Amino acid sequence: MNEAIQVKHLNVSYNGNQALQDVSFSFDKGKLIGIVGPNGAGKSTLMKAILGLVPKDGGHISMNQQTIKEVQTSIAYVPQRNHIDWDFPILVKDTVLLGTYPHLGLFKRPGKKEKKLAVECLEKVGMQDFKNRQISELSGGQQQRVFLARALAQQADFFFLDEPFVGIDAGSEEVIMKILSDLKAEGKTIFVVHHDLSKIESYFDDVIMVNKKLYGAGPVQQVFHSDAVKQCFHIQSPAAEGLGVSI
Ligand code: ADP
Ligand code: MG
Repeated sequence: MNEAIQVKHLNVSYNGNQALQDVSFSFDKGKLIGIVGPNGAGKSTLMKAILGLVPKDGGHISMNQQTIKEVQTSIAYVPQRNHIDWDFPILVKDTVLLGTYPHLGLFKRPGKKEKKLAVECLEKVGMQDFKNRQISELSGGQQQRVFLARALAQQADFFFLDEPFVGIDAGSEEVIMKILSDLKAEGKTIFVVHHDLSKIESYFDDVIMVNKKLYGAGPVQQVFHSDAVKQCFHIQSPAAEGLGVSI
């Protein structure tokens, strides 16, 4: 029972419409885990339910054998791009500094130490030269890098990224993937919602295939095979070729 995360019989619904049905899985720490499924499959809902951002109808979730509330400060979350208000007037450096807040005491303001950490995190994602820019002035890839820097500043054990590569340039995707594999090497557990099926095998150790129900959860080599992909995406075999997955 040394799982970093355990989800048991998770059910979530919105206004009586079931979004997730009896989803169960567990993973050890130090894994890079992809979450795949078609549009509207419940991928974002799964992340939000784990994070306690949407209520669950039933089920049990534990992280490091603790409740989500107990581990809250060790969780970093980068929401889906289109769920973030990018026009919000905030400087890049302040966005990253926000990441240090969970570890500050009540009523304490970030000091020298936190500011230094924020700059170091910006350096890691190659965005230090943009620290005095407004977040709204950046490209999609740059914004996503800044949000990753904020997550790094949180010094979390668990990272949740919802479609981090949508609408970003190849260079930013490469930078982000490198950082995620470094985090993994440090023993962190990282979940990434990802829709490009052709990258699953090269990017991830494990995969969660979801479409309301669970279609597989475990090592990519074992779980991510053509039949499961077809079932999860509700597709007939010729259409599967367009998805870029080797089946
Ligand atoms: P995905 O991230 O896989 O595209 P979501 O988790 O966003 O899927 O959505 C799963 C289902 O739940 C969809 O049918 C979606 O319309 C519905 N849904 C998501 N969020 C809400 C919400 N806040 N209120 C009502 N329905 C929602
Ligand atoms: Mg989503």
